[in-house]
Amino acid sequence: MLFNRKIRTTALLCLVLFASACSSSTAVFDPSKVHHGDGKFISIKDGSFLSWLSMRWREASPPEIDPEELKTIVSEADLALIESPAELPRVTWIGHATVLVQYQGINFLTDPHLTQRPFAFDFLVDERYTQPALSYEQLPDIDFIVISHNHYDHLDHRTVDLLGNSVTWFVPLGLKSWFLDRDIKPENVIELDWWDEYRFNDKVNITFAPSQHWSKRAPWDTNQSFWGSWAVNIGGFKSWFAGDTGYDQAMFREIGDKLGPFRLAIIPIGGYAPRYFMSATHIDPAEAVEVHIDVKSQQSIPMHWGTFQLTHEPLLEPPALLRRALDDKGIEQSEFAPAKIGQSLILE
Ligand code: ZN
Ligand code: ZN
Repeated sequence: MLFNRKIRTTALLCLVLFASACSSSTAVFDPSKVHHGDGKFISIKDGSFLSWLSMRWREASPPEIDPEELKTIVSEADLALIESPAELPRVTWIGHATVLVQYQGINFLTDPHLTQRPFAFDFLVDERYTQPALSYEQLPDIDFIVISHNHYDHLDHRTVDLLGNSVTWFVPLGLKSWFLDRDIKPENVIELDWWDEYRFNDKVNITFAPSQHWSKRAPWDTNQSFWGSWAVNIGGFKSWFAGDTGYDQAMFREIGDKLGPFRLAIIPIGGYAPRYFMSATHIDPAEAVEVHIDVKSQQSIPMHWGTFQLTHEPLLEPPALLRRALDDKGIEQSEFAPAKIGQSLILE
């Protein structure tokens, strides 16, 4: 297993070394904005491939996954419920960062990933360990989709091709051209900068908000498109999707003050190990609880765990650490309980 992983890592190095380095962002950079740099967005992370490579060689592989234990985090989706009108806000975890939110005739998805691999080169990474709770054919009619950033586990080109022009895509600044290249019509892609707000219709308001992360899809495009979180207000039901993020208390408190309090927050709890490498751009479960507090979330659901083995923590470890962190803070477990993949939660 370890040997395989190192061979794959080396293969990736070769791909990077042989890749041609020529591309520039189509984003318009505004020097008056603190997060806009010269030709790229300002991130805490520069995306150094060599430091990632050295971490991969140093760190032991995560433990093997028990298939019986995997079954305990999955439940069959209630298709009849998902097809029925949502008088109360309803949320269904489809897997990884893909969540379906439904309310008053509006259906939207976060970072949809419905296929098997979290990367462009299938031989380099493991297949997903748990299947998407809904296939493309089982999805209800989707009104719009929010995309947090361009990493492969959040922006899956195969899923984008499936959903195509049937939806409106809300994407970070600098990412619209990627969608146009995949034959999505310009009127179906709304590109926003942090704090930009968009009125989707008379009851839906969508705001792009900060996160502490970075972007990269190819060796030459580090931080050339933006990243962030999304606040969606449907008729007074306020939800927030964090995307991938490191911890910055001031940033999350500002989101809570400006856009919250939220009835629902969708917060990542996996992708955190080893901390010396991951902490700048990925919160751990204890920090996820801080985010839940900072953004003033009434009910949070954890995501970004149990699907892909992208980092070095055991695949099924995050919920145990989340429960401990909630206890440490004296917060009711039900406020931020792990859902099963496929489970729908109705917010009474
Ligand atoms: Zn990411
Ligand atoms: Zn991710």
